[in-house]
Amino acid sequence: MPVLDEKLADTYAEVLRRNPGETEFHQSVHEVLDSLGPVVAKHPEYTDAAVINRLCEPERQIIFRVPWVDDRGTVQINRGFRVEFNSALGPYKGGLRFHPTVYLGIVKFLGFEQIFKNALTGMPIGGGKGGSDFDPKGRSDGEVMRFCQAYMTELYRHIGEYTDVPAGDIGVGGREIGYLFGQYKRITNRYESGVLTGKGLAWGGSLVRKEATGYGTVFFVEEILRHRQDSFEGKRVVVSGSGNVAMYAIERVQQLGGIVVACSDSGGYVVEEKGIDLDELKHTKEIRRARLSEYADARSAAFVEGRSIWEVPCDIALPCATQNELNGHDAAQLVAGGCTIVAEGANMPCTPEAVRVLTDAGVVFAPGKAANAGGVATSALEMQQNASRDSWSFEYTQDRLGSIMRGIHDRCLETADEYGAPGNYVVGANIAGFIKVADAMLALGVI
Ligand code: NDP
Repeated sequence: MPVLDEKLADTYAEVLRRNPGETEFHQSVHEVLDSLGPVVAKHPEYTDAAVINRLCEPERQIIFRVPWVDDRGTVQINRGFRVEFNSALGPYKGGLRFHPTVYLGIVKFLGFEQIFKNALTGMPIGGGKGGSDFDPKGRSDGEVMRFCQAYMTELYRHIGEYTDVPAGDIGVGGREIGYLFGQYKRITNRYESGVLTGKGLAWGGSLVRKEATGYGTVFFVEEILRHRQDSFEGKRVVVSGSGNVAMYAIERVQQLGGIVVACSDSGGYVVEEKGIDLDELKHTKEIRRARLSEYADARSAAFVEGRSIWEVPCDIALPCATQNELNGHDAAQLVAGGCTIVAEGANMPCTPEAVRVLTDAGVVFAPGKAANAGGVATSALEMQQNASRDSWSFEYTQDRLGSIMRGIHDRCLETADEYGAPGNYVVGANIAGFIKVADAMLALGVI
């Protein structure tokens, strides 16, 4: 990893000491600190008030037992988390992840990223994240409901529309948000729509929220292309994952005339030179909750088991599955295959080595903090609609999302220019997000 500025190196050493074994959290902190050298040089006030050290320490970390009973009558015990990382700009905001790999280090890395991402949207939201090591795969609807109810039975006392507003992430979609909201409503006897986002349209949800992260990532890339007098028309695109973010990234690319030739799940990837069939993919994933190999069978398409999707040549790559899914070797394969743009739909899907290989080769790299901020931005729009007991049209909401993504894009470039790194979206996103939060923290005093 690159060497940090001296003051920042001390901060990082303290993060390592305080959070042993939490490698993903270390990685996300290092990535931000690596951009902040010119900021601390220009603004000693941030160092004087220990703003960066305070930012690296969550305001509150909640860990709890989640006991529930499976369909066979056996008691299961999972662990629940909610990390309320920073509330300088507004109530904590960030999703819940249900996946067997979830532990404190994952929740903290996601919460830390969320602080800067949320700041970049320009909306009044702080950063938080939560989840559980519960694995919804292979569980019946009844089991998922009982788990969600047990999880909310503890979580409800920590959240609220002015305190902390969770949403979905990996393993948490409309079904899970429904069960969580139902239990919150039952326990509190309050129809407090603004306590969760990603809700169904009939009970307080927003149009475009489901599509927002994937669409937003593609809006961001559209902006990159526009700056180069180019467009998606005829471009070969590879999208990893086949969940919420991937699905709607694929949809939007297709609407703009691009051809998505491959997508994946944790079992492997599917290639279709004429383009992925979105209707079949939605039917497989959203309705049948089946594996991608079953989509491939239904389409008589090639399914490549256990290999990296990044070996498929493309013009544009959108990693939309999970953290560290694209390493240095994958990045080299992308470069060799002619890829010119990589935008992160997922959170931190590219390893530091991958980012280095891509940027050294002149590939435009858009970090998740900026490129996937459309999901949380639309969650904030959902909160606005809940607060005013209103619901907006698809077109209006999509326009708002589009202008937020264009705003983030431009802010990244302007900030990168100002701090001597023209065209560098990583530096631009990290510094612009940081300054917004840091200024609010200075104004609020040492708390
Ligand atoms: P979903 O659970 O809907 O989908 C996750 C997808 O990624 C699934 O297809 C899953 O496959 C696949 N996947 C998981 N692990 C791997 C792996 N190791 N290799 C290949 N594929 C894998 O989650 P989301 O789409 O909501 O989230 C995807 C990413 O986007 C995450 O990083 C999340 O943090 C980020 N994100 C999500 C937002 C949202 O609004 N939902 C907002 C901003 C970021 P399988 O079914 O086999 O596990």
